[in-house]
Amino acid sequence: MKIANKFPGKDISIEDIKYKFPLVAKKNKSHKSKFKISGIEFGGNLIPVFAGPNMVESEKLIINCAVNVKKAGAHFLRGGAFKPLTFPYRSKKYTETRLEGLKWLKQAKIEAKIPVITEIMEEKYLDEICEVADILQIGSRNMQNFPLITACAKTQKPIMLKRHYGSSLRDWLGAAEYIMVEGNKKVILCERGVSVPHTHRSTSRFLLDLQVIPAAQEITHLPIVSDPSHATFWRQWVHSMSLASVAAGADGIMLEVHPDPKNSAVDPLQPIDYKEFKNLMKNMHSVAKASYKRKIL
Ligand code: PEP
Ligand code: MN
Repeated sequence: MKIANKFPGKDISIEDIKYKFPLVAKKNKSHKSKFKISGIEFGGNLIPVFAGPNMVESEKLIINCAVNVKKAGAHFLRGGAFKPLTFPYRSKKYTETRLEGLKWLKQAKIEAKIPVITEIMEEKYLDEICEVADILQIGSRNMQNFPLITACAKTQKPIMLKRHYGSSLRDWLGAAEYIMVEGNKKVILCERGVSVPHTHRSTSRFLLDLQVIPAAQEITHLPIVSDPSHATFWRQWVHSMSLASVAAGADGIMLEVHPDPKNSAVDPLQPIDYKEFKNLMKNMHSVAKASYKRKIL
């Protein structure tokens, strides 16, 4: 094995960069993609924030969330109408809202004048989702669903590719190459916590891989968003892990925000409320200014 051919601490070789993900890889040390989505710039001084509930639960909830997260400075509204729920059993409260939810999301986008990111799980809903979404979210569980990724990429809509919780940086970048090879340049990566059996399971469901932010930025020119909500699973840890993500150089932050977190239809331990979100935005902005003269607000 040629040690010199490998990047420090990473399972990525010069050959990988040249032949396996040439479009995703940086062409030189300072190469960084800059692009705008609905007027919001990625890869520059701004750190765009995506905020909203886990699920588009009702029209009232998503409109209320859109208005409030926008007021606090969020750049995008997040929320899934289609959800990869871990277990198949549903209570009335715990049901995906699907095409109806998409209509509510569209209404929220119009009323609050905020762009939207939402998850796609099945190609058959691509047209309906593209009509509402400014960014298509490929969730952790579909990170290597290549037919889905390719179909989404071909639309030329911006795509956020969430890292699978068991995937290496190499596999994640390989999946991103599937988007770029279709000529789609607006690709955002999102770290959302990894599963490391035995080491952290007693403290949290996933482990936020902060180190993958600088590691990925050494290799790719694409922006890397951090999602401390899904990684920590506990709202008490979201504040500090968000500040840590900004300090680590994240190019964006995704947060679950809900008006009544304890009554969130999905993962009620995870979202923060409006007051905490407003406070966090202010503190993230301070850290952003202190690190590399960036900004959030
Ligand atoms: C989500 O963002 O709502 C979500 C399901 O995230 P992940 O795919 O990272 O689990
Ligand atoms: Mn979620």
